[in-house]
Amino acid sequence: MSKDTVGDGVVVSMEYTLHVDGELLDSSDGQGPLQFLVGYGNIISGLEEEMRGMKIGDSKDVVVQPKDGYGEFDDEAFMQVPRNDFPKEMPVEVDAELTVRDNEGNARYARVESIEDDTVTLNFNHPLAGDELHFHVKVVALREPTDEELDHGHVHEAGHHH
Ligand code: ZN
Repeated sequence: MSKDTVGDGVVVSMEYTLHVDGELLDSSDGQGPLQFLVGYGNIISGLEEEMRGMKIGDSKDVVVQPKDGYGEFDDEAFMQVPRNDFPKEMPVEVDAELTVRDNEGNARYARVESIEDDTVTLNFNHPLAGDELHFHVKVVALREPTDEELDHGHVHEAGHHH
């Protein structure tokens, strides 16, 4: 398989910026290029699809709609929970990000939307749900994954294994 272009089973190193509503939200500046293995859902689908076929040195502006990014904002994705249902030692305050277990035991991200009396309202929308994402990406390196990375379906960065 060719490793000259972005495609399935290739490890991509990219520099990027992410703007939402004209505001810089995230960037590889200062933290170095982001590495990801293509074809395993490691980055949002809308960005990965647009990067296929890019070569080292190529850069591109990519606009990702919510459905191909972090999802549409769901007005129903809120839940009210009695404060007493949380462990006493857990800091529950507005905007706190929590991981809660649903009825099937799956971990789900939630953010505390509001607290009234003894009732906590959780918002299960991703913080960027409903947002149009404006990426600028530049491919700085391409390489083959190690057997272990391919086996796990994600990149192992230096000194970092999971
Ligand atoms: Zn791993």
